[in-house]
Formats: sequence, C-alpha cells, structure tokens
Amino acid sequence: MRSEGGMTAPLHDAHPAGPGRGLPDTQQGMRRRNLARVMHTVSAEGPLSRAAVASRIGLTRAAVSTLVDELIRSGLLEELGPERPGRVGRPGSALAVSGRGPAGIGAEVGVDHLAVCAVDLRGQVRSRAVRYGANRGRSPEPVIAELASLVSQVVAEGEGEGLWPAGLAVAVPGLVARDVRTVVRAPNLDWHDTDLGALLPQDLPLTVGNEANFGALAELWLGDGTPHDFLHVSAEIGIGAALVVDGQLLRGTRGFAGELGHVPVHPDGPRCPCGGRGCLEQYAGEEAVLRAAGLEPGEDRVGLLAQHAADGDEAVRGALREAGQALGIALTGAVNLLDPEAVVLGGALAGLAPWLLPSLRDELARRTAGPACPVSVSGLGSQGPLLGAAHSVVRAVLDDPAVVGERA
Ligand SMILES: [Zn+2]
Repeated sequence: MRSEGGMTAPLHDAHPAGPGRGLPDTQQGMRRRNLARVMHTVSAEGPLSRAAVASRIGLTRAAVSTLVDELIRSGLLEELGPERPGRVGRPGSALAVSGRGPAGIGAEVGVDHLAVCAVDLRGQVRSRAVRYGANRGRSPEPVIAELASLVSQVVAEGEGEGLWPAGLAVAVPGLVARDVRTVVRAPNLDWHDTDLGALLPQDLPLTVGNEANFGALAELWLGDGTPHDFLHVSAEIGIGAALVVDGQLLRGTRGFAGELGHVPVHPDGPRCPCGGRGCLEQYAGEEAVLRAAGLEPGEDRVGLLAQHAADGDEAVRGALREAGQALGIALTGAVNLLDPEAVVLGGALAGLAPWLLPSLRDELARRTAGPACPVSVSGLGSQGPLLGAAHSVVRAVLDDPAVVGERA
C-alpha cells in the first residue's frame, strides 16, 4: 500500500522560472523548501517577526528576510506594522499570512446537492455557493456544467476581495483513478469512467478525490484534538471511510481504500448497487435507515431522521439503533485489522450520532479483541469533504509557495 500526505493539487512545475531561476538544482530545491518552512511557520504561529521566524526554523535573520521579502512580493505574506511598540531596540514588523492572493477552491458533488467554496491562505471560508437538487441518474455533463457555473460564481466573488484561485479540488462520492480527474465508479450517481477534467474549466489545476478522503483530511487538519492515527467514517446515501496513519492518508494500491460501505454485514442481505449483497450501506446508509423507519426520503434526510428521533419516534430510534449495530459490525473488521487510535464519525452520520453511538459502541466493544477503540464525532459534520477539498489546495500552496509566487 502507498500512503501520501494529502491530495495536493498538481501545482508543481518541473522547471520553475521564478526569482530563483539560474540557481543550481540543489540550491533551487533548498530555496523552495525554506520558503515552505517560512510559510508553514507563519501560518501555524503568526503573526511573528522576522527574528521569531528565524529562531523557529534555525536560519539566520538575513536569510529569513530574503525569503520573507520574496513571499511578500508574491502576495503570500503581509506585514501588519511595528510589533510591540515601546520595546527597547528597533521594532520588528509582525508578519502574517495574507488574506488576499491565492485561494483554494473546493467543490463537492453530492447525490442531491452541489457545493463550492473558496478558502484563503488563513483558512477562512470567503465565499460559498450551494445548489440542491437530485444528481442521481443524471448524466455527468449537465451536473458538471452546473458545478462549473457555481465555481465561476465563487471565483468572481473571491476576486472582488482580492483573491485568485490557486486550484480546484472536487470531492465526489465514488472511486477516483490515480490521474486525480477520472471518476472510475460512483454507484449512487450511476457514473462510470467519467473524466471530470474534460468537463471542467481547463484554466485551473484540478484534483478530483473521494469525498471520504477529503472528509478525513479536513478532520486531520481542522479537527479539535484529532489524533494522527484514526479511521474516519462518513456518509450520505453511501458510506465511506478513510484511514489516516501517522498523519498521512492511506490510499491503497489503486487509490480505492476505505470502501467500508461495501463491507458485508449480512452476506445474504439485500442487493447493493456495487453488485454485492448485504453491504453496510444497505443497513446504515441514509436511505436504508429511512426505509427501515418507514419514512419517505425527502431532501433533508438527516434533518428528518434527527427530528423524528429527537421527538421520541420509536420506529426511527430503532432503525438508527440497528444502523449503529451494522456500523459496529463493519467497523469491528477494520479496527481488529488496523488498530487505529480512534474512530471518528463525520459527514451526515455526525448529525445522527446521539442515536447511532450507543449500539455502535456496544457492538464494537463486544467484538474487538483489544480494549474498546474510542469513537468520537467530528465537529465538521457534513462540511468536512468540501472544506477538506478547499484546504488541500491551500496546503499545496503552503507546501510549495515558490510555484504560486511565480503565477501571481
Ligand atoms: Zn455494496
């Protein structure tokens, strides 16, 4: 199996042609790495003076000043003015990551919604657009045309605030090929071998990824106290999981790891769109739970279930108990095999956690060989995949600011 850090948009040029051109390869590489270290340090701990950055990354103040000047010229850092006035000696100017300049554009294709957002280098969502409506059974072309128009709207709003798009990352409920643009199979959309790159604007670096993977990355990057080894489970109609090991996403040989929704819970159970029988999705996916509870699927499936459960509807509570049990059975296999530090429930499941968790925890505790694996609930909820997509572009900028500086 292969693992890698995040879904970085393909921003890397083989032959950079910016301010450092003409330097030998080793110096060029070192300059790029040092620019990234300065960006990450200011991003994590800023505002900071040049001297504080220098002491944190162990370079001379002169070397850091050269790097900082380049990042300011590129619009990636900005000076906030004199730091701590009144202090003895020449005041340093505090540096912060710019709230203008490059932004990550995240997009999400859901079974019945489309969403797009722009996140600046400070991690703030600056613009957002959502369209509700069924996408299942529609061909990819009109759906992606609508997505592209939401992208244009969000990019235009960002440009009004001095932002420009550094890349586009799209979360989809399906398997994505290693080219990070082709949807190999999205059973709940009924899409196969669809090259989204050919249907989206060609002027932005594009990364298409599985929504569960983006959700797990969002939890890793934005979650409150999330460990570096965890199994993230998310759902809407389908159920996906993603495994983060030592802060890295484990993708599997073909990039298809994490298809928890198609782990069999009852091998002779109902048929599943994947071709199997009795898969977890047939017991714990949103539509399956609605069916079991005797409710009609509407637009806000989770809201409907949560409302009925909160009102004490025993049929809904029973259906959620059984869904939690099915999740526990499927997760037992994963936990026994992989021994993660925690299981995190994200996506739509987070909104139903009060009714899913007791039976899920019981089942897991009863079946796992070692001590019970803790199960927690993501604070990002259904926003995870969209935020993870946008932040993956932002992370790519922080990881290699030189390339973006050259495009600015
Ligand atoms: Zn299945």
